[in-house]
Amino acid sequence: MQPINYLTKKVLTNIKLIIFDVDGVLVPRGTKIEQKDNWTTFETKRIAKKQIEQIKKLHELGLLINISSGRGLYMLQDMFREILPFTSLTYENGSVTWFDGNLIQHTNSYKYLREIFPKLQKVSSKHIKGFEPKEFIITIHCHGQVRQIEDIVSEYDNLYTVWNGEAYDIGVKNIQSKGYGLTAFIKHLKLKKENVLAIGDNHNDKELIECAGVKITADKDRLKGDFYVPLEGELLPADLLMKQIIKELTK
Ligand SMILES: [Mg+2]
Repeated sequence: MQPINYLTKKVLTNIKLIIFDVDGVLVPRGTKIEQKDNWTTFETKRIAKKQIEQIKKLHELGLLINISSGRGLYMLQDMFREILPFTSLTYENGSVTWFDGNLIQHTNSYKYLREIFPKLQKVSSKHIKGFEPKEFIITIHCHGQVRQIEDIVSEYDNLYTVWNGEAYDIGVKNIQSKGYGLTAFIKHLKLKKENVLAIGDNHNDKELIECAGVKITADKDRLKGDFYVPLEGELLPADLLMKQIIKELTK
């Protein structure tokens, strides 16, 4: 793995599409959520002005931008409203892509998840903070890992659970990952893997990174890539990456 300053104009020659993970990359990590009976409260983060300008610049340089997150569409639209005219949103770990107001669904998880959902809702643990509203995956925020959740998911051969340090994402094996969604979206755009650069910071970005020609990690401990940017620091990982790309492409 090389530091980001080795990401030169030459390495970027074939890149046409840039994929950004959200939490830990475009905004700081951490979701504030509380659930009490039928009330769910959570904080919406917004992309900073500086990142809006950087993304606009990438767009001007002729690059396509895609944001790929485990979050739901309603939240991503709110977070990225100012850059929606030149950004597509792939949400809930590659399930669907919002592209210019149209939805391209990559996965139908309904029949796989409908049985497990009520079982998970019945789990009682002081560690559980709440279920984040989602359409295609199940996300349970917890203070720490909850064995009972893992045990219930392990009863289903076709389902997986990923613990990212603050929540469990539960989805369908092989057909529901950021990588699966990216591969389908690349095909839709008639692009190839070598045209794609992706940056992520967490376990659910593994498949995403693997499906990109140029792989960037913002957390070397959790994710391997060709290049790395530091997670902790004054600047967000996406800030450092965009700075480097803009510098190289405007040389
Ligand atoms: Mg992340």
